[in-house]
Amino acid sequence: MRYYYPDYFKDFVCIGGKACSDSCCHIWQITVDKKTLRKYKHVTGELGKRMAEKIDQKTGDICPHGEENRCEFLNEDNLCDIVAKLGEDYLCETCYTHPRHEEVYPDVRERSLAITCPIACRQLLERKKPVRIIYEDTDEPGDKDKKFDYELFDVLLKTRDNLLKLQQDRELTISQRMALSLGISHDIERRIRAKSLRNKNTGFLDKLFAKKNSFTDEELGDIEKILKYYKKSDAFEKMCKNIEKSEESDWFMLDDEEDKKKILSDMIFTLCTMEALKPTWIPYLQSVLNIRQQMDNKEYLESYKEFEAVTDDIEIEQLLFYFTYVYCCQSAYDGALLAKIKMAVVNTLIIKELWFMCWLENDKTLTMEDKVEYAHWFVREVENSDENMEQWDSLMQRNPRFSLDNIFKLL
Ligand code: SF4
Repeated sequence: MRYYYPDYFKDFVCIGGKACSDSCCHIWQITVDKKTLRKYKHVTGELGKRMAEKIDQKTGDICPHGEENRCEFLNEDNLCDIVAKLGEDYLCETCYTHPRHEEVYPDVRERSLAITCPIACRQLLERKKPVRIIYEDTDEPGDKDKKFDYELFDVLLKTRDNLLKLQQDRELTISQRMALSLGISHDIERRIRAKSLRNKNTGFLDKLFAKKNSFTDEELGDIEKILKYYKKSDAFEKMCKNIEKSEESDWFMLDDEEDKKKILSDMIFTLCTMEALKPTWIPYLQSVLNIRQQMDNKEYLESYKEFEAVTDDIEIEQLLFYFTYVYCCQSAYDGALLAKIKMAVVNTLIIKELWFMCWLENDKTLTMEDKVEYAHWFVREVENSDENMEQWDSLMQRNPRFSLDNIFKLL
């Protein structure tokens, strides 16, 4: 088994209690795993009684309660009653590991620190050195999954390696890094689509025995060439020229700032139509949209330029890198690589825009607390709801608001 993780993964320590600005023990529903649930059945006294009453004994669900949707066992000091009375060994798997997240593939586990936790988010934003992804091989056998496309997964791992390196190239502007990341994913996804189209057309018996078509030699050669091409120092200029020559020549680098303001407002509006975890989320987004509506384009543009001048590109790089690391290989299940990288870019741009709005509202100041607050809140709203994650991914694949054309115009 191979384990991947960012080099700061093992440094995380939960501060918990009142010291944490936004405890993770509220809003979302925690499900106790079966093993821990069996352990809870032996707990006696007042706590045992509460466990039997408040935890669904079949599903393990602990429904959040009250206005703040708090976990039933989160006490007034924002500490967990189960830990206080029985110790950390009695935590269920989710609570024990959070915000450590593991993405599971047959013979690979990818670990990350979810920036839904304000402390993990701060740790990432304060980091100045480029993050390194470490891997460790263990003797554990991988799972055998006949349906899993191991060949595609290898291509994705290689592509991600290249994307992450590119995103840390500080010789390039952050917009260039985003544009090139989208370019690579767009070009590689075309080869992935060609292969999956052949798979769709395979006969019934091949499908029954999960027999898969491989990439052709030509496709594999193209993938190598694409990765090499985007490493060249003039890749960005060449990509711009190719886009200019293509039918979609109105693609990007347009000076139409009205477009930019509108595109981002439309994206933020889309968030208002999704499930809200915190009751204050939608009103907050609406207030952001109101501020934007009240500004004319000239004012927006001038303020944004001023804001950009005080923005630290390294923080933007860390966000882009984080989302790319977490999302990229998830396309092993649907081949939609471009949508995953769009998600990484759009998430980063929306967080930057929320920071911009906060900076405007606070007389052109923005503290690290503010940055952590808005970055972790946005990610929590999107990532802590399976429904939202699915919708967000599918919007990137199908909704014209999130077209490549639109995203390029934002860069
Ligand atoms: S949000 Fe992070 S720091 Fe706060 S309680 Fe949860 S894991 Fe600990």
